[in-house]
Amino acid sequence: MQSMIPDYLTEVLAAVEPDTSGERAGYIPELAAADPERLGAVFATVDGQVYGVGDIDTEFTIQSISKPFTYALALSDRGFDAVLAKVGVEPSGEAFNEISLESDTGRPRNPMINAGAITAHSLAGAEGLDPAARLERVVQGLSAFAGRRLTVDEAVCASEMAHAHRNLAIAHMLRSHDILTEDPTAVVDGYIRQCSVLVTARDLAMMAATLANRGINPVSGERVIREPVVRQVLSVMSTCGMYDAAGDWATQVGIPAKSGVAGGLIGALPGQIGIATFSPRLDSHGNSVRGVALFERFSTDMGMHVMEVPPAARAVVRSNHVVGAGPAAIRVLQLQGGVGFAGAERIVRETVATAPAEPGVVVDLTLVSSINDVARRMLLELARRLTLDGHEVYLVDPESMLPDPDPGDGGRVTVLADITQVVNHVVAQRENPARNGESDT
Ligand code: GLN
Repeated sequence: MQSMIPDYLTEVLAAVEPDTSGERAGYIPELAAADPERLGAVFATVDGQVYGVGDIDTEFTIQSISKPFTYALALSDRGFDAVLAKVGVEPSGEAFNEISLESDTGRPRNPMINAGAITAHSLAGAEGLDPAARLERVVQGLSAFAGRRLTVDEAVCASEMAHAHRNLAIAHMLRSHDILTEDPTAVVDGYIRQCSVLVTARDLAMMAATLANRGINPVSGERVIREPVVRQVLSVMSTCGMYDAAGDWATQVGIPAKSGVAGGLIGALPGQIGIATFSPRLDSHGNSVRGVALFERFSTDMGMHVMEVPPAARAVVRSNHVVGAGPAAIRVLQLQGGVGFAGAERIVRETVATAPAEPGVVVDLTLVSSINDVARRMLLELARRLTLDGHEVYLVDPESMLPDPDPGDGGRVTVLADITQVVNHVVAQRENPARNGESDT
């Protein structure tokens, strides 16, 4: 048997193929000469599985899709404060190449429009790097996201540089506000080289999957950026990634995304997949026409809108039952799935409502796949309160979902690998109460 996913991709590609509307990016002569018929789509899961159909190994320039990644590098290399001082995070609702800055501070509104991206480029790498070393930091960083060494297309770069009047104008304005502190031409040159990095749809899907996978490249295993940086970048992509079409995109597609004028488009669905499409003809916003159509289909067909999430908490308490009888009775709360705030609230509520009469209470995490920090703290506080109420609290945690549990003042938990061990422990404790320094009532 074969997976249905490539068949699905083939079908959706065939559905959008007849749409030949839109134009290649005319303002960069090399891009205006690209083959407009190219069409490809790739899904890359957060565990590294790649599904692709069509032109997925054709190289084209990354263009503005480099922006979120370079922003990530700047945040990593300089820290949030230094970057936020120079680039905002407000959607501008303007075209990508609009010559506009915040009126009071001179800051570009966000790092997805050219003004912000040129600034973010200047903030990549350690302070004081020369333009060549900074470009190397950017290319090396983009390569780490992709999981292979990427190169710059000199022809596209020269072609854009020869017509870069608008980006140069933006850079000069940035320089006049001291947002840029060095030669504007050198920064634009570096930014345009960054935009001229060659990628395939396969590379872009892996780059997006690295964002979806909390900053770790799913194939190489390399941690490229830290989680707070991922959160910042995905947030900015979801509000600003599609420029003046960002609101339509957020409502209709609902996947943090970024487009490029060579026809690439990426989406990163946190915890699930990275998606990339390639089709060079663009709409009036500079977004790929068939790429947008593909993403609309993916989102609807596959339920990928980020605001459409399963009821995470409902099934978190798989069972709530008693093992044994009398003074050896143990209340077992068997949990399952991913536990966040809402899941932890269910567990706490269920425990409070149950008001266990049994001396032993077991929280069984065998079937739990993840626990976030707030849920961890709530479960430990639950254990502490149960101890204070006179219960002996056990954690069945074979996969160490809660390593070194410390419930704090007056709380105590015993970690064991399965329920049988808990039962044996309770029996042993009854036979030899002194061992635990406690009576078993
Ligand atoms: N290099 C292009 C520019 O600066 C990138 C624009 C884009 O992809 N939206 O104009």
